[in-house]
Amino acid sequence: MKNKIASAKRLEKVRYDVRGPVVDEAARMERRGEKIIKLNIGNPTPYGFDATDNVLPSINENFLISQGYSESHGLAEAREAIAAYCAYKNIGGVIPENIFTGNGVSELIITSMQALLSSGDEMLIPSPDYPLWTAAVTLSGGKPVHYVCDESSDWYPDIEDIKSKITPRTRGIIIINPNNPTGAVYPREVLEDIVKVCVENDLVIFSDEIYDRLVMDGIQHISIASLTDEVLCVTFNGLSKSDRIPGLRCGWLTLSGDLESATDYIAALHLLSSMRLCSNVIAQSVISASLRAEETNDPLYKPGGRMYEQREFVYNALCSIPGVSVIKPRAAFYIFPKIDLDMYDITDDEQTALRLLREKKVLVVHGTGFNIKTPDHFRMTYLAQIPTLKTALERIADFLTTVKKK
Ligand code: PLP
Repeated sequence: MKNKIASAKRLEKVRYDVRGPVVDEAARMERRGEKIIKLNIGNPTPYGFDATDNVLPSINENFLISQGYSESHGLAEAREAIAAYCAYKNIGGVIPENIFTGNGVSELIITSMQALLSSGDEMLIPSPDYPLWTAAVTLSGGKPVHYVCDESSDWYPDIEDIKSKITPRTRGIIIINPNNPTGAVYPREVLEDIVKVCVENDLVIFSDEIYDRLVMDGIQHISIASLTDEVLCVTFNGLSKSDRIPGLRCGWLTLSGDLESATDYIAALHLLSSMRLCSNVIAQSVISASLRAEETNDPLYKPGGRMYEQREFVYNALCSIPGVSVIKPRAAFYIFPKIDLDMYDITDDEQTALRLLREKKVLVVHGTGFNIKTPDHFRMTYLAQIPTLKTALERIADFLTTVKKK
């Protein structure tokens, strides 16, 4: 008999529920011809959003000149445009040499953790989080330590909780701003408090800002890197969401702040990025066109714009379901409602999401998939048009009546 092909031990604890078993079941149902309302991932394309006009012409124009490899850390023109964007966001001193392009932010999240962490090193990660961060820390041999983002304070990071979780092994903190899954955008004071903690405890800041141009309600997005030159800041961004080209896999990271102490880390980033040769060149070739655009905040996110109106609709509809409460998201395209467990009988939210899928044909992601402890949230995107959202929310409300406590 042949030996079983074992998978790598280091993957044992790595989880990524956003594309987990519930999604597999949805795929099986679709193969059987069932029609499902999919509100599970932030992929604008299936909801009728094409690439923005900022990048679409460049994609076509640059195709033939993008056939070869580029330098490992990216095309010079792209990195110059990113450096200028950092200056626009008041992030001091970012030079093209300290910018790395990647096949989406996803690849860079994994690279940035692989380059930093040794076995047992700890990383502070928000709860809820975008779970790739937790997965990347675990994959890299690190220990994820989750800090609370407080729903009762607009989902802002709880500074006292962060402080209480720092140990001699803590290497850095991850923030997701604007946030997935909550849609929170952090104010200056919160960011300044985080910087202070990092200066005092010698922590590296990793800031995932992929939604920075999809902000509503007149809020100005502030990059945490613009508030310090004392600590190393690694800032992540890309075009999957702002220019709606997730399939082209376009992301970058920038290094700012205390670069002097970071020479070993920067060398590790160079090594890892050269091992994967380069990131998608056609995607890099449109970065400058995207970042040159005069209107950096998407008009779809202003009153009357499709995303703004869908946010309003979904927020109001969720608030009208008994036992459901929700903090209004201020950016991105997700909402993270809370379900009152005194009213509803839910102990395993993944099973509940599976039942919702099977019984009502609506696909959402269970809250514990975002590394929260209590099974009382779920995440849905509001990328779909209002009539589809309306149907989905009616089905969710209907479904909840079937799990109501007697
Ligand atoms: N970071 C956050 C917060 C995200 O929500 C996502 C995707 O949903 C990513 C990173 C990954 O994006 P990319 O398509 O650039 O890999």
